[in-house]
Amino acid sequence: QQERYRSLRDKPAMGLCGTEVKLHMNAGLMADLPSLENSGAAGVGLFRTELQFLTVDRVPRRGDLAATYARVLDAAKGKRVVFRTLDIGSDKVLPYMNPLDEPNPALGWRAIRVGLDKPGVMRMQLQALIRAAAGRDLSVMFPFIAQTDEFRDAREMVLAELERERALGHILPEKTEIGAMLETPSMVFAPQHFYEMADFISIGGNDLKQFFFAADRENERVRRRYDTLNVSFLNLIEEIVTRCDAARTPLSFCGEDAGRPIEAVCFAALGVRHLSMRPASIGPVKHLIRRTNILELRDVIDEARLSGAQSVRPAVLEMLTRRK
Ligand code: PEP
Ligand code: MG
Repeated sequence: QQERYRSLRDKPAMGLCGTEVKLHMNAGLMADLPSLENSGAAGVGLFRTELQFLTVDRVPRRGDLAATYARVLDAAKGKRVVFRTLDIGSDKVLPYMNPLDEPNPALGWRAIRVGLDKPGVMRMQLQALIRAAAGRDLSVMFPFIAQTDEFRDAREMVLAELERERALGHILPEKTEIGAMLETPSMVFAPQHFYEMADFISIGGNDLKQFFFAADRENERVRRRYDTLNVSFLNLIEEIVTRCDAARTPLSFCGEDAGRPIEAVCFAALGVRHLSMRPASIGPVKHLIRRTNILELRDVIDEARLSGAQSVRPAVLEMLTRRK
């Protein structure tokens, strides 16, 4: 299967109309990094940092984390790596944390909420990232931002840690980009200032979709009930694209749907220009993008939206199979 796509590795993900999409990979382990070269990914669009916290029996030490992050950056050989700060709680529980008895963990004390309320671990993680990226570029993004001030406070924490590291005489990153994951519907309609403040935004589609449709991503009974190509969800994505374009803020999509070829071409048609996915999905997604006229697909999507259809999938499938 992978062999089939090998010849595409160094080719751009460019549609028949000339629209280019950048394909990045998701990672979370050192062992994932060789895929960066093998898959031809443009970079790591999402590095989940939970595993280094989940596989040990106490909070990792700053020096050990810094060494790990530095090795990740070394292995990326100058390609961009977006580190997401610790996203714990809900489905990701640390063995050495007091278990929380929450009625709705997915809506509970998790991710950035923990990071802001008990900032010790997040500060330490930011210090480790800053040290690992000494003299090179650092991209850090915060998960599960639900209102503007949470992003502002997290961003200020990065700036404070940069200042502290500078005062301590450490070499700083050459450039630091601070982004937000967009995972709650509230941020789609946030003040435009949020979009201006973020250096980049990445749609966490797994969470965004679960909250948008009120359907638990962990619950087999409901998790596949709502089509990603449902018109309501596409309208939501389009609003994010419009907001990001107005603020000139780069936008990516890093949830699982980005790795599904049909969903991926539809996101591209709506104007999402960066997609981040598991490495094995890069070949199939690139293959479909390269044989699709993205502009024409956009017309098909718009027409289906106007027709009153619940999902644009039938119309999209009809167009994609017609041209085979
Ligand atoms: C997401 O929610 O889409 C995402 C990429 O983050 P995670 O799956 O780790 O919650
Ligand atoms: Mg998420």
